[in-house]
Amino acid sequence: MYGKIRTDLQKELQALKEAGLYKEERIITTPQGPEIRVSTGETVLNFCANNYLGLSSHPKVIEAAHKCLDEWGYGMSSVRFICGTQEIHKQLEQKAAKFLGKDDAILYAACFDANAGIFEPFLDKECAILTDSLNHASVIDGIRLCKAQRFILDHMNLEDYEAKLKASQGAKYRIFATDGVFSMDGDIAPLKDVCALAEKYDTMVMVDDSHATGFMGKTGRGTHEYHDVIDKVDLITTTFGKALGGASGGCIAGPQEMIDWLRQKSRPYLFSNTLAPSVVAGTIAVLDTLSETTELRDKLEKNQRMFRKMMTAAGFDLRRGDHPIVPIMFGKFDNDAPLAQEFASKLLAEGIYVIGFSHPVVPRGQARIRVQLSAAHEEEHIHKAVTAFTKIGKELKVIA
Ligand SMILES: *Cc1c(COP(=O)(O)O)cnc(C)c1O
Repeated sequence: MYGKIRTDLQKELQALKEAGLYKEERIITTPQGPEIRVSTGETVLNFCANNYLGLSSHPKVIEAAHKCLDEWGYGMSSVRFICGTQEIHKQLEQKAAKFLGKDDAILYAACFDANAGIFEPFLDKECAILTDSLNHASVIDGIRLCKAQRFILDHMNLEDYEAKLKASQGAKYRIFATDGVFSMDGDIAPLKDVCALAEKYDTMVMVDDSHATGFMGKTGRGTHEYHDVIDKVDLITTTFGKALGGASGGCIAGPQEMIDWLRQKSRPYLFSNTLAPSVVAGTIAVLDTLSETTELRDKLEKNQRMFRKMMTAAGFDLRRGDHPIVPIMFGKFDNDAPLAQEFASKLLAEGIYVIGFSHPVVPRGQARIRVQLSAAHEEEHIHKAVTAFTKIGKELKVIA
């Protein structure tokens, strides 16, 4: 009986709207790309997608997916262990494992599912997970689904990391879990130090590299390559839904026995449908391209550094970093939250699509506009964005 909850929900929804926390979705009427049209009619430059390498609508990827539809069909109507495994699924696992520098990989419908299924098969209540406080929601949920003791670590604080490694020494097995890149700040996890600590305290390291796979590190393998610890990170989870073509799907890569065990025990793998063949083929085409050339990640790096340099020169307060997530900070203004929102909507009117984030998504007093660069951006796109930022920045007295 849909009774009392209806009026309660109506009130709660209204409260969200009044607090400015209700998320409206903007509707795109074109394929995903550096330039998109939205349902209200504007054509805008897109600076808020995770389309880091510009592969979401790349002709090679589309062609591979088309061809696969004809050759391998539309869907599998099965989980992997019943009748949901084609040759291409095994190929993708091997290619992903090789790309990530691990023995083997196992596919999931999404990285969210990979994270939901990674801890519980290995860890019981005698074990411990050490988790950075800003880890992604799916890592947090994966930890919730498992009975291991939980140690929540101050964000990227090595002293706290070590203190909690000391405090958890009685555990049977331990896993240190961290995002490779934290999405609100573009912060890169200090994996060199983490791996050194993990070695000292006999702890496994798991990295969710969703915001890094494909472009971080000199050949784009991820943050473990960026920090030169490819062999020291035990388990990697990542998504195919961001830089790697942006469709959907994810995987866990790691040592052979761990992947074998996950195939037997990981619930989102065992009880959820397998990846669609066309998505598998598209992702294979992406990994093949990225294994041949670093052209795209090189261009992304150049774009990201150029944008940071130009925006800093224009007088904006940027969060420092070396990642295509570039937060423009408004914390020095008392009205930072509404200011960031107003700035973002004025930018949209200038044809620049970015998102303003404020409390509770980020800490109070740290409202920001998060800009995400892509290899699909050309120099003129970046110039246009900086020009618009500068115009609105002067108008709203954010810069002199
Ligand atoms: C985007 C993201 C995910 C979720 O990936 P999906 O494949 O879309 O489920 C998981 N972890 C991190 C760190 C992410 O940024």
